[in-house]
Amino acid sequence: MKCKLCRTKKAEIFLKPYGLGLCRDDFLSFVKRRVERAIDKFKMFEEKHRVLVAISGGKDSLALLHLLKGLSYDVTGYFLDLGIFPASQEAKQRILNFSKDFGISVIIDRLDEVFVATLPEIGKIMKRPPCSYCGTLKRYFFNRRGMEFDVVVTGHTLNDEAASLFANNLRWDFSYMGRQYPVLEEERGFARKAKPLIFVSEKETAAYCFFCGIEYYEKGCPLAKGASSIFLKRKLLEIDDKRPGVMYTYLKEFLDRKRKQGFMPEEKADMRPCEECGYPTTAQGLCAVCRIRRRFVQHAEGVANNERM
Ligand code: SF4
Ligand code: ZN
Repeated sequence: MKCKLCRTKKAEIFLKPYGLGLCRDDFLSFVKRRVERAIDKFKMFEEKHRVLVAISGGKDSLALLHLLKGLSYDVTGYFLDLGIFPASQEAKQRILNFSKDFGISVIIDRLDEVFVATLPEIGKIMKRPPCSYCGTLKRYFFNRRGMEFDVVVTGHTLNDEAASLFANNLRWDFSYMGRQYPVLEEERGFARKAKPLIFVSEKETAAYCFFCGIEYYEKGCPLAKGASSIFLKRKLLEIDDKRPGVMYTYLKEFLDRKRKQGFMPEEKADMRPCEECGYPTTAQGLCAVCRIRRRFVQHAEGVANNERM
């Protein structure tokens, strides 16, 4: 089969949702255009801005970092090492190799240095699943580093965003649907945030990495087993396989309506600075992360005292 765009080279990938068979070069241009269009349409950032790309070592975030560099943006990668053994070490090694291979600088913070312990240690001491702290801690440290830049971008894909909308629809969670948007303005201690991959699927980021020779961490987080978001993502993919393109239309129509009509605008909560670190919070006194730190220290001291007795 010949490429549907250039009609000369052999098609190396078939994009079922769009009925397009493309050669390598036209596929890479297709993905770049999708990203450029999302950046322009939602006014995410401009060439003069310094962009921090939150990376996990997986295909989506590394593809995004590579894509933005190729589009001549001023990018730096940021990896928060959660200390999950051996996944964090393996992912970090992939990131260091990537940084060297493509000449892209990355910042690496270790959670046990910037916070107080690794994620598994926090879960163990607090006797709760580590995942229940993960999102709060990542958001906090991405934001803290992001304040040194003009914008923080994440590798959320079409699959992630459609699954998130699906989950919010199933609960009719208007509050989350009100907040779901590919760009959030900087305000009151929060860095500007954007998601340039919203119209690129995971199949496309994997193919992008393959065609560009990007070696990524493939195994994912070992703590992810059984997460409901994974179940919904799979279900959406099954639907998309039977009705090609439905995932793209589902998300695009929602975002277009929001963009044009301010569909379900977010209700702004009252924010005040955390008494300990200054991070904006709706709580009185300490922010969520400083509360986790305080509880962790109390629990750890309790465990140490019990062991001494
Ligand atoms: Fe964090 Fe997800 Fe891993 Fe849980 S599964 S620890 S939420 S990255
Ligand atoms: Zn705080």
